[in-house]
Amino acid sequence: MDMVLDEHAARRWVAAIVAAVESHRDYLTQLDAAIGDADHGVNLQRGFSAVAAALADKPGLTPGQVLLTTGTTLVSKVGGASGPLYGTAFREAGRALGDTVAGTGEQLLAALEAALEGIRRLGSASVGDKTIVDAFSPAVTAFAEALGAGADLAAAAAAAESAADDGMHATVGLQAHKGRASYLGPRSVGHQDPGATSTALIFGALRQALVEQSA
Ligand code: ADP
Ligand code: MG
Repeated sequence: MDMVLDEHAARRWVAAIVAAVESHRDYLTQLDAAIGDADHGVNLQRGFSAVAAALADKPGLTPGQVLLTTGTTLVSKVGGASGPLYGTAFREAGRALGDTVAGTGEQLLAALEAALEGIRRLGSASVGDKTIVDAFSPAVTAFAEALGAGADLAAAAAAAESAADDGMHATVGLQAHKGRASYLGPRSVGHQDPGATSTALIFGALRQALVEQSA
């Protein structure tokens, strides 16, 4: 059977994010303590545990509806910059999937592109501003390139995860130009961005969800 993003894969993706955010909650909060207000891990953990509860109450969804529910819940439960940004990202991704029950690689790519576009529209950050975009943008590019080179969904997601990790690490050397960390000016240099770090977790979770399907 061809690998697809069906309801189960979408639920596995979100469940893997819930688990990663839970196990990295303190780490994300520590990163935010250095250049923000020490709430990123707590914000996301609260939001994604609400997502898990919302999805448990809704059996029989399309993959798009899984992502829409995820986004809507994040927008309503997470304060701070990251709630609306990730909420919009998941809502846009869900909307892009439409009513498909088995998203192809091209459809997942379109969903990831829509997510990135939503983040950019809302936060107007570019690569290099030391934000979520520094991990998200290269991840989407790597996913597209891998798919174009003939990779299946799991391999494309692995390429995206690796690019997100590289983008995350590269934020250490950057000065923040958006969000709370930008108030620190040059003193934001030398610290890894919390949002780029949670984005790397989100792409790691996607790879995990799709690799499990192919195993
Ligand atoms: P807050 O900064 O409101 O406390 P969080 O701590 O939950 O919110 O999230 C902080 C993260 O949000 C930052 O590390 C950064 O990656 C991301 N972020 C902030 N502003 C923007 C923006 N305009 N565009 C993209 N990401 C942003
Ligand atoms: Mg914060």
